[in-house]
Amino acid sequence: MRCPFCRVDNDRVIDSRSIDDGANIRRRRECVSCRRRFTTYERVERQALSVVKKGGIREPFDREKIRSGLAIACGKRPITEQDIEALVSAIESECYDNYESEVPSRAIGERVMELLRGVDQVAYVRFASVYREFKDARDFVDELEPILASDRAAARMMVGGQAMVAPGATVPGGAGVAERATEDPRGR
Ligand SMILES: [Zn+2]
Repeated sequence: MRCPFCRVDNDRVIDSRSIDDGANIRRRRECVSCRRRFTTYERVERQALSVVKKGGIREPFDREKIRSGLAIACGKRPITEQDIEALVSAIESECYDNYESEVPSRAIGERVMELLRGVDQVAYVRFASVYREFKDARDFVDELEPILASDRAAARMMVGGQAMVAPGATVPGGAGVAERATEDPRGR
């Protein structure tokens, strides 16, 4: 693998681990030339999937596009590169599982929003504002209202009729990576 810093193609693997239930392998590498470290991900190549965009234009499914869109939405939020990678992998798997050769770009965008909403609501709103092309504050409020309502409902379900959640408390919609969503508003 060519070093992203000095471009020399000579590295040694210092750590390899299986991630996303074995769907991917993450390798930590050290450049033999400049000694800097970088990370690569390895995964099984699958049958080509096309994304059908607005207006019927098709392009190859590209997880990098999803990743960069997510990275922008998650900027300065308490979400790690690995969290983003896990989201991209989840979306990629679903696309390949649920569509044979073509997937509408809209379906991907909606799914990204759904997953992001369970992870970090600020990132979610950022992504939604770009994806849904919010034109004014009213669109923004329209997008937020159902989230706030469903979070209140989820909070009630999670406490199972026992202790009540403080008014205004937010509860992440998903499990796992979602746990960090409401903490550390300063980011990193
Ligand atoms: Zn190097």
